[in-house]
Amino acid sequence: MMKWEIYLDVDGVCADFIGPALTAVGLDSALIQQQWAEQYPGNFYPDELLGMSAAELFRRIDALGAGFCATLPACNWFPSLYHELSTLGHVVFLTAPTGYPDCLAGKYQWLCRFFGEGFRDCVFTEHKERLAHPDAILIDDSDNNIRNFIQRGGYGVSFPQYWNQRGSSADPLQDVLEDVRQIVGAAHQN
Ligand SMILES: [Mg+2]
Repeated sequence: MMKWEIYLDVDGVCADFIGPALTAVGLDSALIQQQWAEQYPGNFYPDELLGMSAAELFRRIDALGAGFCATLPACNWFPSLYHELSTLGHVVFLTAPTGYPDCLAGKYQWLCRFFGEGFRDCVFTEHKERLAHPDAILIDDSDNNIRNFIQRGGYGVSFPQYWNQRGSSADPLQDVLEDVRQIVGAAHQN
C-alpha cells in the first residue's frame, strides 16, 4: 500500500471547465479569459467581468444536464499528470459537485470515460479539507481549498492558473510534479 494519498481536483486541474462554462452561458470565452488574466489575475471568480454571480453561472450550467460535465475536454497534461502522480502515491480524484444530481452523474461519467465504468478512486464533496491528514496531498486550483486543506493538517499544491495566487505557468505539469516530489521526498527524510 502506498503511503501517500494524492487528492486530485478535476475542474481547472485535469479538465478545462471555465472555457466551456463561459461559452455555455453565452460569453466570448477567449476574450473573457484574456481580460480575466490581464485585469483580475488571482481572482477565482470576478463577478463584475462575467456579469453574473457564480451561483447564477452554476444554475445555468446545471440546467444543461449531466452532459456538460461529462464532456469537458481533458487538459493536454492530464494523462502525464495522472501517470506520474500514480508513481508517487495513491491518486484519488476529489471534486465538488454543485448539488444538482446530474452534475454528480456528469462528473462521474467524465472519470469513467478515461478509467471505465466502476472506477472507484474518486470522492465527490466540496468539503475537501475533511480528507486532510499528514500523508495527504491536495492538488487544486482553488486557493481556498488549498488553504483549508493545509489548515486541517494536509499538504497542498496549488495548480498554476491565472485565477489563483500562484498564477499561470508555461509548464504546470512539471511545476506540480516538482512540488509533489519535494513533499514526498522531504517527508521521507524525517
Ligand atoms: Mg478546481
